[in-house]
Amino acid sequence: MPINLDMIEKWDREDSLSKYREEFYLLKDSIYMDGNSLGLLSKRAEQSLLSMLDSWKKRGIDGWTSGEEPWFYLAEKLGEMSAPLVGARSEEVIVTGSTTTNLHQLLATFYIPDAERTKIVSDELNFPSDIYAIQSILSLKGYKPEEHLIAIKSRDGHTIDEEDIIASLKEDVALLILPTVLYRSGQLFNIEKITKIAHEKGIIVGWDGCHSVGTIPHKFHDWNVDFAYWCNYKYLNSGPGGVGSLFVHEKHFNKTPGLMGWFGSDKQKQFDMEHTFLKAKNSGAYQIGTPHIFSMAPLLGALQMFNEIGMEKLRVKSLHMTKIMMSLIEQELSHFGFKIINPKEDTSRGGHISILHPEAARICKALKEHRVVPDFRKPNIIRLAPVALYNTYQDAYDTVIILKEIMQNKEYEKFTNEREVVA
Ligand SMILES: *Cc1c(COP(=O)(O)O)cnc(C)c1O
Repeated sequence: MPINLDMIEKWDREDSLSKYREEFYLLKDSIYMDGNSLGLLSKRAEQSLLSMLDSWKKRGIDGWTSGEEPWFYLAEKLGEMSAPLVGARSEEVIVTGSTTTNLHQLLATFYIPDAERTKIVSDELNFPSDIYAIQSILSLKGYKPEEHLIAIKSRDGHTIDEEDIIASLKEDVALLILPTVLYRSGQLFNIEKITKIAHEKGIIVGWDGCHSVGTIPHKFHDWNVDFAYWCNYKYLNSGPGGVGSLFVHEKHFNKTPGLMGWFGSDKQKQFDMEHTFLKAKNSGAYQIGTPHIFSMAPLLGALQMFNEIGMEKLRVKSLHMTKIMMSLIEQELSHFGFKIINPKEDTSRGGHISILHPEAARICKALKEHRVVPDFRKPNIIRLAPVALYNTYQDAYDTVIILKEIMQNKEYEKFTNEREVVA
């Protein structure tokens, strides 16, 4: 049955998460479909940032150890609050660094090449920064990245076949680094299965959770994932440049971080100022320098909502919204040359949908003129993320209808088909 407005209104009325929309600062007269790139500000996140400023204002240096949220323990506290989102033990997650710096840290720790194993496997569709970090560690250790980084090829240019991942896990591989969800096509990998197979071959596995944490439930601990890292400014709404997170499985707590710094110390010992590094006995050991308090503070308020609702519920709504959106695209846009490139099954679809069109760059500009905020990715991909916390079914519907009008009237033709500086 075709989707109509009555159905859309009914889904919105029956949506038990709809009250959370009011907690966000929605952009005026706009439909925001870009929560997978930069989530919106919530009132709670704003409040937690303001209260941290207040703590500095009123306490000066004593803010480190006093006040509602003493800064000295904030990274651990946020790690504990993030743990349920990724299925971790409290001590396995720490909020620190950025996605890229955390990967550098984790590679410096977990990439231990020996006579047999020197290669790092990743994929050719991975985010460039992850690839640069892998190339760096190989160069630092004296290995040529061209030979020692194995990038699994995509057969269709958008997704990676599980078989090809498995086939790449040869005897000379030390590490496997993959995104949980590919940032362009939104393909979700079977994290548990791939981790298990890699382990059977003696390979350590790390996952980049940037496009899944906050939209998909995980069980990193039970799945025996060695390490993971992600950013908090996408689905988790912690703000531009918000501090990232990392997970290290407790079975690795005996390891010494590759990049040591005093904030990785045992907290009781840190201020002894000894020149012998006494590391924290948990993922806190992977911190390097003084935490960026104001870039962490919004996460406090933002995470409360995720913990109130629980990831399972958010995933159900997210999957339903993306499914409805795909159906609407097929129903309304079939004559305009769009191709849906994200996997369609619930088990391998992330939180956004991805559509391909040769005029994608300028179609996105036309959408913006109509106050729909999409996300363009080179060369010709439009990503649309209906976010369970703050988008409505009506948003998804209106986006597709506006897109249809743009195509019917060829409104995109007045723009150039090139990306903007930040796209
Ligand atoms: C967003 C994103 C990044 C960004 O890394 P930063 O260090 O936070 O700038 C890295 N990898 C992936 C897969 C991403 O989606």
